Amino acid sequence: MTRRDTRRPPGHGAISMTTRRGENSLSTKPTLARNDGHAETTGSAIVVGASLAGLMSALTLARTGVEVTLLERSDDSGRTGAALHVEHDLLNRLTGRTRINRRDAIPAGLQTWHSVHDGLRAAARADSRIRLLPNTIVDAAAQNHNDAWVTTRDGRKFHADIVIGADGHRSTIRRHVAPDKPHSEFAGYVIWIGIAQESELRARSWPDGVDFLSSTNGPLLGYPLPAKDGTLTPGRRQLGFAWYDATRNTLLRKSGAIDGSVVQHSLTADQIPEEIYRELGAEARAEFPSPWRDAILDCVNRRAVIGTPISEYVPNNLANGRIALVGDAAHVPTPMTGSGFSASLHDAEALAKAITAHGVKGPAAKLALATYERTRLTDARRLVQSGQQFSRSLARGVAA
Ligand SMILES: Cc1cc2nc3c(=O)[nH]c(=O)nc-3n(C[C@H](O)[C@H](O)[C@H](O)COP(=O)(O)OP(=O)(O)OC[C@H]3O[C@@H](n4cnc5c(N)ncnc54)[C@H](O)[C@@H]3O)c2cc1C
Repeated sequence: MTRRDTRRPPGHGAISMTTRRGENSLSTKPTLARNDGHAETTGSAIVVGASLAGLMSALTLARTGVEVTLLERSDDSGRTGAALHVEHDLLNRLTGRTRINRRDAIPAGLQTWHSVHDGLRAAARADSRIRLLPNTIVDAAAQNHNDAWVTTRDGRKFHADIVIGADGHRSTIRRHVAPDKPHSEFAGYVIWIGIAQESELRARSWPDGVDFLSSTNGPLLGYPLPAKDGTLTPGRRQLGFAWYDATRNTLLRKSGAIDGSVVQHSLTADQIPEEIYRELGAEARAEFPSPWRDAILDCVNRRAVIGTPISEYVPNNLANGRIALVGDAAHVPTPMTGSGFSASLHDAEALAKAITAHGVKGPAAKLALATYERTRLTDARRLVQSGQQFSRSLARGVAA
């Protein structure tokens, strides 16, 4: 993507919103002019889902000049996640801003999901072309020749030139893009995730980098993470783990986390039965060396473990007319690929590039989203397929 000037005129552009009864209609047409002499994309987008893929897409779309309404069902409380590898100059790539002060920057390397999410959300909040609406659950999307829209659980309707589904592995928007293949499929295992503070552990030595260990249940990835204040000094950092486990599928089904072949939800710390905590503790003691054993036991003792059943989705398409998918809504690889986040970044960049080339007003929208699909589909399919052999052998090798 070429460097862009991101200075903007004040005000928010072309989103129109109506209630079910047609009240409170608000519609403004943007007349954006760049002050570096180039034409700027005008138009509007609704992005459904303000997690990592949604925030990154909102930022790249805003950079092209498109006005973005970002709809997120949660209020961002109680969210957690694993660790992500962040590439250099992430915010610069997304926003085009070359001067990002240290306080706002998202450091490169392995980072916690929270720190990346916080950094992206702050960048989105600082961008006046992005309007973020939390506590907004999208139930459906639709389109005609002129525009696209979503309807929300509380009866509102948001219209824009395009709708982007960034609503994760259980995407609602996916059924409007791939009605014949709307669900991702359970891959046959759960990942137990936790983060411990090195200062709370009794270990004598600390890891230099990511450790990969095997166990009867499945592999364990252990990774040192910066402390909350950014410290990288061994003994003062955080230790994260992702423990793959193909032996607990009966529990997942009984708890409703899996229904048929579809993942319904993760097991939050308080949904994990005491018996499972006890078993995980005993297995960690028997199978892993320090400090990973200590990190798992610390999380088990604090009842601070999350169980995420893993699903996979190989896409056949990424766009349908004015509606497209990015991130886990578009493609779900096993976390073992370590690439879901960077794939979401590539989606966001490809989307913005296609929109810069074609625009989103009128028939251009379909052309832009078809171009986006052409750019990303083969790589997205390959990425998911690259992890499927691992998933199959893990699920096959350990009886549920
Ligand atoms: C256990 C685990 C470990 C992982 N480890 C790695 C790793 O090491 N490296 C890596 O690159 N990737 C990893 N990933 C994948 C990576 O986290 C994702 O690919 C990436 O964060 C993109 O996610 P997303 O934003 O597309 O989806 P999500 O994070 O699922 O976000 C979807 C958002 O949409 C919102 N939403 C959903 N439905 C609606 C609706 N109807 N209306 C409004 N909002 C809605 C949700 O509340 C959520 O905020 C891992 C994933 C998991 C599960």
